[in-house]
Amino acid sequence: MQKLFEAAGYEVAEKISEADVVVVNTCTVTAVSSQKSRQMIRRAAGKNCVLAVVGCYAQSEPDEISKIDGVDVIIGTKDRLRIVELVEAAIKSREKIFQVGSVDDIREFEELPHSPHRTRAFLKIEDGCNNFCAYCIIPYVRGRVRSRSLESIRAECLTLKAAGYKEIVLTGIHIGAYGRDLSGKISLVDAIKTVLDAANPLRLRLGSIESAEMTDELIDLLKNDGRICNHVHLPLQSGSDEILRAMRRPYTTEKFSELTARLIREVPEISIGTDLIVGFPGETEENFSETLKFIEEQPFSKIHVFPYSARAGTLAATLPNQIPPQIKKSRASQALEISRAKAESFSKRLIGKTVEIIAETSVGGFVDGLTKNYVRVYVPDENIQLGEVVKVKIERLHKDGVLGVRS
Ligand code: SF4
Repeated sequence: MQKLFEAAGYEVAEKISEADVVVVNTCTVTAVSSQKSRQMIRRAAGKNCVLAVVGCYAQSEPDEISKIDGVDVIIGTKDRLRIVELVEAAIKSREKIFQVGSVDDIREFEELPHSPHRTRAFLKIEDGCNNFCAYCIIPYVRGRVRSRSLESIRAECLTLKAAGYKEIVLTGIHIGAYGRDLSGKISLVDAIKTVLDAANPLRLRLGSIESAEMTDELIDLLKNDGRICNHVHLPLQSGSDEILRAMRRPYTTEKFSELTARLIREVPEISIGTDLIVGFPGETEENFSETLKFIEEQPFSKIHVFPYSARAGTLAATLPNQIPPQIKKSRASQALEISRAKAESFSKRLIGKTVEIIAETSVGGFVDGLTKNYVRVYVPDENIQLGEVVKVKIERLHKDGVLGVRS
């Protein structure tokens, strides 16, 4: 959306107080994200600007948002391409614009330009999800799967190549479902091959992917093409088969662990991240113990832990045996403890080795960047240029990653 405004002649203001237009792009995946979205809206609402609220929270709670004084434009998860036009219409008419329609019938991929980042380009190839996991609000606010065409991916990749991006991250809501809505037998593997061919990036990173969608063909590509990062994010959500069934997740812990064992065996130095929900309705102490045992055994390098958050309209929000907040909190901290230990032990393995990073940020005399397998590396060297590919000899653990010197 920033790019759309820039194309229309707008400039990015440094502070909210200097802006004529403020866009708050919202999230509603958990109660906390909705709350943060509301805080951001309120923070901007008192300012002397046109305020547009966009995205998933706007899609799910437009009436709540319209009660906040100072909101001029509300756009859900479709029609974001029209943001400039709708904001300008609000300026002209001095009236509130409400553009929130049903997402159930969207079939076309909305081609917003890629999100700019200093070193990585986030290339969105898919939107929406058909899975309806019991806890998840996403299919209700984003609609069904729609995939970007291979031609459009190719065209965007040529732009990214010309802009000099060294790393491309493929994103989407459910990228494993890529191609299901397109004619012909097109899959995520075709999207990846198109990116590799058109952009020829130094690195291609995959966004979060469902374990059940890691096909043989995809694993072979991961193994055999050195440009694809040896890092995957496979959402587990629970280590109890009973809870996985209640969540309507399409795999068992056995299938999941077969996959992670295979990835560790076949892809050198791969890092495997995951998401975990604790305190799903009906999760007993026994179910949770199974989860702790399972995540302890799994070769994860990082676990994102979420206390279950009831989202109105989902199946899980209607289930009995909702877990009290203090139990969810305690379970989350036990799981996080395991995550911390696993992240540390994964990072420790790099000590003494030389790794390659793409310098990404420079703060307080340190430059940092990621390894291919997603460990953050800090280098106390201000002469490194952002975007530069640097070889670093790792010396010790540091902050959320490791520290080393240029080798
Ligand atoms: S697959 Fe992911 S996005 Fe889709 S419903 Fe399940 S958790 Fe939500």
